[in-house]
Amino acid sequence: MEEKILRVSPSYEAQYRDGYPLVMEEALTNPGALKEEGEVFRLETKGGDFLGRGYHGRQNKGLGWIVTTKETETIDERLIQKRLIVALGRRGHFFGQEETNLFRLFNGEGDGFGGVLIDYYDRWYVIQFYSRGAYAFKDVFVEAILQNTDAIGVYEKKRFSDGGAYVADDDFVTGTPAPEPLPVKENGMTFASYLNDGAMTGIFLDQRDVRRKVRDELADGRNVLNTFSYTGAFSVAAALGGAATTNIDAANRSREKTIEQFRMNGVDPAAHDIIVDDVFQYLKRSAKREKRWDLVILDPPSFARTKQTTFKASKDYPSLLVSAAAVTETGGYILASTNHGGMTHGRFRKFIKQAAAEADCTFKVESVWSVPEDVVQDDKYPEGSYLKVYLIKKIAEGGASHE
Ligand code: SAH
Repeated sequence: MEEKILRVSPSYEAQYRDGYPLVMEEALTNPGALKEEGEVFRLETKGGDFLGRGYHGRQNKGLGWIVTTKETETIDERLIQKRLIVALGRRGHFFGQEETNLFRLFNGEGDGFGGVLIDYYDRWYVIQFYSRGAYAFKDVFVEAILQNTDAIGVYEKKRFSDGGAYVADDDFVTGTPAPEPLPVKENGMTFASYLNDGAMTGIFLDQRDVRRKVRDELADGRNVLNTFSYTGAFSVAAALGGAATTNIDAANRSREKTIEQFRMNGVDPAAHDIIVDDVFQYLKRSAKREKRWDLVILDPPSFARTKQTTFKASKDYPSLLVSAAAVTETGGYILASTNHGGMTHGRFRKFIKQAAAEADCTFKVESVWSVPEDVVQDDKYPEGSYLKVYLIKKIAEGGASHE
């Protein structure tokens, strides 16, 4: 079979020679050559030099991912097996752990195959496909998992509806279905997860290191306000560390979900406030009533619309920080997180500075996190490092400054 050839325009040649894995439409002189998602192509310079071999899949600005830069290597079962085996090897220490059995096993381009993520939920595997093209390799990934792991069952999440949205479906693929809920462990905490209940499973594994910090160092004897609390995972960590928590989420079902997560950990839900409300309204009202917390957790989605408000992290994060500062004790902390891939650390730091000025208080950044080690990165693709979490101490009111 003749291999499809894609040509990179000269102005992008250096970037692809350097190993950039995402094939962007604007980088090609002949993007129209691509027809069917999942088809394999050979990327070349204008002069005909081999740059890499990849597959066609539409994902945001991308038309596909380079999967190998070895000219002799083809994209087939063997290569995918090999990629998975290397990924398994890299996470060897996670498999041996008693206290954690939830982690990212395969992280797309970071593990040499963009558009496909695999998460490990205590011997159940959840594969996320980010394009129809990636989904064309589904059977090969499933087979590779079954052959190389102790999988009890496999689930999938198809994230290639309009704008990368989740395609609602029965997500069970093969093996034995997981119990519902499936309890998973993280640093000795237990979280209820649901592998076949829509786009999300109830727990975001990428905040593992941050939750540990909350439990071990930021919770004891403190009052914690957890905004955008979802199933209350941060509150479980805080409660186990000795805090009283207030949970705010606009979704009705966050209440029962949070109660469930507390119970999984032997925490009495009655000792915590679980409030279904719009975060922005709640912060405003709390400021008026002069309510204060020792730790305010902000973990909003990149974009969210409720009846009352529209929030865009890239624009509205400073005002969220200002509202949070108004209800944070002097000497207390704001834990500010964003998973917005387009937000750089530089921009986020600027937002923090801007918020300090606007709130007229002094902030000090004490810790910074990015994605955890199992969310392995391709250093040629910095956009993959989407998570930014800042622990900010509010050291004084008045005399705005920022260290
Ligand atoms: N912090 C959570 C994850 C947040 S997911 C965790 O650690 O698990 C985003 C949550 O924000 C969703 O549960 C959604 O219902 C909620 N949300 C979005 N916009 C909101 C708003 N304006 N007010 C309150 N909750 C909101």
